[in-house]
Amino acid sequence: MLCVINMSGFRTHLIGGMAAGGAVAAGTAIFKPALLDPVQLSALFITGTIGGILPDLDSDTGKPLSILFGLISILVPVAFLEDLAQYFTITPEFLVTYFVICYFIINFPVCAAVKKITVHRGIMHSIPFAVLCAQASFFIFMPSGKSMAMAGAVSMLAGCITHLVLDELNSIVWKFGCIPVFKNSIGSALKFKSSSLSATFLIYLLAGLGGVHILNQLAP
Ligand SMILES: [Zn+2]
Repeated sequence: MLCVINMSGFRTHLIGGMAAGGAVAAGTAIFKPALLDPVQLSALFITGTIGGILPDLDSDTGKPLSILFGLISILVPVAFLEDLAQYFTITPEFLVTYFVICYFIINFPVCAAVKKITVHRGIMHSIPFAVLCAQASFFIFMPSGKSMAMAGAVSMLAGCITHLVLDELNSIVWKFGCIPVFKNSIGSALKFKSSSLSATFLIYLLAGLGGVHILNQLAP
């Protein structure tokens, strides 16, 4: 039987994401000290932390899901702000209207739709979905330059992969402390495809399109 995500599982993933984001931020600060400023390093830490909980978007359970959608309802409108600035004057009244409308749309109709169409441990628990999240992170940070975009993508990928690995580790029970016994959920997180062909096809299509777009942006 597949595992049900509870708050203790959520905390584990939160800590895993914080460790992943913290490692990417610390690694960047140590090995490339002039590359990013402290605010950007903080954003890397937060991005990794979000990546650490993002695959549980498909969990359908109360509090973790509401926290995730709360975060997404901030991040998604931020991602489109730069594009909207070409068509609208960014005033306080525009920002209030824009963010409040996005908050309600994402937290209610979009959340309800995601709950309805996703299956726990479906395609959102997979390596291509982690890549897609990393690509989204790249596009969010691209206005700050290629270095920040790449670091943001790496941090998101690290957070998501940490989540998948933790889920797989949770599928192993150690009998007598030394004999591994695998639960039925083994292999349902760190995988390349789901049982739904259409969901798998859609994720690979989006990741392919995202990859082409990123290569265009990185081209000199
Ligand atoms: Zn999970």
